[in-house]
Amino acid sequence: MRILVTGGAGFLGSHLCERLLQDDHEVVCLDNLFTGRRQNVMHLTSNPRFEFIRHDVVDPFKAEVDRIFNLACPASPIHYQFNPIKTVKTSVMGAINCLGLAKRVKARVLQASTSEVYGDPEVHPQPETYRGNVNPIGLRACYDEGKRCAETLFFDYHRENEVDVRVVRIFNTYGPRMLPDDGRVVSNFIVQALNGEDITLYGDGAQTRSFCYVTDLIEALVRVMEQEETVGPINIGNPDEFTIRELAEKVVEKTGGQANVVQKPLPFDDPQRRRPDISLAKKVIDWEPSVSLDEGLDQTIAFFRDSLGIA
Ligand code: NAD
Ligand code: UDP
Repeated sequence: MRILVTGGAGFLGSHLCERLLQDDHEVVCLDNLFTGRRQNVMHLTSNPRFEFIRHDVVDPFKAEVDRIFNLACPASPIHYQFNPIKTVKTSVMGAINCLGLAKRVKARVLQASTSEVYGDPEVHPQPETYRGNVNPIGLRACYDEGKRCAETLFFDYHRENEVDVRVVRIFNTYGPRMLPDDGRVVSNFIVQALNGEDITLYGDGAQTRSFCYVTDLIEALVRVMEQEETVGPINIGNPDEFTIRELAEKVVEKTGGQANVVQKPLPFDDPQRRRPDISLAKKVIDWEPSVSLDEGLDQTIAFFRDSLGIA
């Protein structure tokens, strides 16, 4: 198949492009390089089945494709809050442009939605039926509400125009090729520890997250796209839940035990708990994560040691 990956030069997108090429597909990677990097896909450019297009999903685009994975959107709070209006446009206009294209060329289109649609959840763990607790006017709203509106568009195009859609809600995912200055917790802690800086724990570190390693996530994305049982939404993530303090302690231990942990103010609207209920994914795509946090952290630390040139 010929497959379009928007946001293909980003962290998840580049791993997805790589996987789709391994599966013998043709891949069109579209990205405006806001948080993505050419280096992430440089090793794919010699493959004649790979094509990179620098383009912003806010503007319409054309491509003769069978599948579209819509991943274009900054995912880290510091990046999506850098220009919040642009973040909303990217989610909403990007969804409309992907859905319009899918409708014209009769492609199947998958939306990379997020656990942020659940906001600061009052139901734990979060099943897909939970409607969420999002502050619509807070600092995180540009991302959360943008993604919620994108889901709305996906379901309206599906009902009104019979567009063949899939929606996945991705929970915190980490691994090699996150940006060192990405701002998300796993990359922040590892880079700080390797550089001999203090580890910045926001709040008391009692808030929880559930961390999925990138290879597990990519496997799930590919399976959701090709299954016929449901359009979604389907939660994809690792149900092993850790406090952020536990994560900090693991990173300290795995990087030599020298780093100090310092407390910083908790950002406004920071969700207190997050863990996916993945019963639906288990049933529909026969999937659950196979990489533990310990294994995944080892791989990610090795990646950052290498890319930062730290022995
Ligand atoms: P990322 O920031 O590394 O990737 C996003 C990519 O989209 C980047 O390459 C960026 O340059 C590109 N992009 C941003 N705005 C664009 C625009 N207007 N036009 C074209 N390209 C644009 O983040 P990621 O972690 O790889 O996330 C990929 C997708 O998965 C995002 O949609 C994100 O919301 C979703 N997601 C990720 C996670 C996670 O934990 N990694 C969790 C939930 C959802
Ligand atoms: N966090 C932290 N220190 C950091 C970066 C993040 O303690 O340097 C915390 C953050 O407050 C949140 C959790 O780690 O509670 C996950 O943050 P991230 O930005 O990775 O993801 P999200 O909040 O979007 O789930």
